[in-house]
Amino acid sequence: MLMVQWLKPILVCEDVVKEYNGVRALDRVAFRVEEGEVVGLVGPNGAGKTTLLKVSLGILRRENGRVELLGRDPLRDPKAREKVGVVFERPNLPSAVPVHRILSYAASIKGASRDEVRRAIKLAGLEGHEWKPFTSLSAGLKQRAAIAHALVGSPSFIIADEPTSNLDPVERIRILNLIGELNRDHGITFLVSSHILPEVVRIASKIVIMNRGKVVKSGTPEEVLGGLTRARIRGSDVKTLAEVIREHGFDVEVQGFSVLVKIPGLSHQPVLLEALTNAGRRGVVIYSIDFVEASIEAELMKGG
Ligand code: ADP
Repeated sequence: MLMVQWLKPILVCEDVVKEYNGVRALDRVAFRVEEGEVVGLVGPNGAGKTTLLKVSLGILRRENGRVELLGRDPLRDPKAREKVGVVFERPNLPSAVPVHRILSYAASIKGASRDEVRRAIKLAGLEGHEWKPFTSLSAGLKQRAAIAHALVGSPSFIIADEPTSNLDPVERIRILNLIGELNRDHGITFLVSSHILPEVVRIASKIVIMNRGKVVKSGTPEEVLGGLTRARIRGSDVKTLAEVIREHGFDVEVQGFSVLVKIPGLSHQPVLLEALTNAGRRGVVIYSIDFVEASIEAELMKGG
């Protein structure tokens, strides 16, 4: 028997136009989020990501186009937002109040139980910190509190605007991993914006690239990154680093204190990581790895 399971559209945007005082911030934007996906919305500052997220939620009016959030137009029907959690860039919860009380208050508004508050604290990895005032938490824990806040009411979809932008590199990875886990283990669909492409690529099943109010590219990470990807790696001993990476079959160029490596595709990234591990065994300390993609860089530079 042939089993066909249709993916349920969670968010559909078609031809969406948004203007601020006659200046176009969203120019006929079209994209969709299907059930179970983690969609990464990527673009430089000012691209229109926050505007798009707010229009998708019905917090901002649109001039034109169609938005359907969980089957409803969020502008006409606030019920559309009932099963949607939101995490904004700088979590701004009441500062002097213990997080548990903030979450309990959110639960009372959403008609959620005490058990749901406990579950949200646990899922967000906030256990042990829930009785502290929001203001006393580290940036990473503040973000976890914001995620717990979004989780109250058991949303099927979470929209997160730059959830990692104010965090240090270790916290960034932890928050991204948390989003990945909530998607994989708890079936929550995500739309996550970021201005750092390599970061969202780690967890996204689909990438939508925006620049100047337009979607310039979208697809699976493989489709979006396609072609030649490059990595710039900084290390303590560039000569040895280049040598080891070359031994693993890569095309390498030394540029000052860094090496530029051409990576033929996403599937080669694990081989590169293996090369870096081997370089480490030969005494090289790796300071940083940045993935760069020529065609996306070019797209983002266009008129920008
Ligand atoms: P991003 O989230 O990608 O950084 P935004 O959606 O914040 O981009 O901004 C998109 C464009 O809209 C930018 O040019 C920004 O200056 C403009 N913009 C955003 N909010 C407002 C506002 N409230 N009034 C006027 N212009 C705005």
